[in-house]
Amino acid sequence: MRTCLLALLAITVPAPATTLRAQDYEISAVRYGEISGFPLQGLLPDAPEGETIDIALVFWLLENDDRTVLFDTGFFRAAWLERFDISEFLRPDSALAQAGVASDEVTDIVVSHAHWDHMGGIELFPTATIWIQADEYAYYTGPAWQEGGRAGGIDPDDVLHLVQRNLAGDVRLIEGDGVEFLPGLVAHTGARHTRSSQFLEIRGDPTWVLASDNAYLYRGLRERRASATFLPSDRAANLRALDRMLALAGDTLHVVPGHDVLQFERFPASGPRMVRVTGGRDR
Ligand SMILES: [Zn+2]
Repeated sequence: MRTCLLALLAITVPAPATTLRAQDYEISAVRYGEISGFPLQGLLPDAPEGETIDIALVFWLLENDDRTVLFDTGFFRAAWLERFDISEFLRPDSALAQAGVASDEVTDIVVSHAHWDHMGGIELFPTATIWIQADEYAYYTGPAWQEGGRAGGIDPDDVLHLVQRNLAGDVRLIEGDGVEFLPGLVAHTGARHTRSSQFLEIRGDPTWVLASDNAYLYRGLRERRASATFLPSDRAANLRALDRMLALAGDTLHVVPGHDVLQFERFPASGPRMVRVTGGRDR
């Protein structure tokens, strides 16, 4: 009888889920440039007048046995190098090559938002599938360029290339908030840094959150200060998103902000321009 019950249990208890989790992803931050003396008021509203901060230009690399994923891509177009005083610039595909990853090895790109320093490198990774919020794609390929639209910080050439990639079948549109679009990777909206910016939850034990510009700095997370928002009225939504990031990750240590140089001190170096946010193989 006992044997029969056990046999029954073996049949009726479902096998554990085998979805990939964050411990399966090695997460790294790659620095491809720096801006010194950036006005803090541009990052944290109500910061003291005249206070400045050095910021990092960053994208993030997620690797497991199946995929090589970039969260954002940096940029390479000369116009932006002329417009901003950027030091230590290295083209993102070259920065990635220093980390031992060739551009055609990138399987997926997750675009946090369409700004020049985040979406501006998609052209460097021509074989990757590009994941972006559906509303972000729709807005910046249409209404943003109409009268009354908000296209600040968007490079028309990036948009043209994004459309070309969509025509080639390389773009996947993520529909809204809380979507697990790849195993273990969950897109979250609501922060509205741009029309429909997204931050990335990498599920596991521990769970990590990559904020991109939805939280520029650790200080903003600690002091619960909003980043720049699409509309002034979105500031409350951005603050709710900060709470959501912290709830998902458990603490500020497991939320990685978009432009903070401290992430390159907090985590161990694993290459000339790279730190390993999680454990994993040595480079
Ligand atoms: Zn931005």
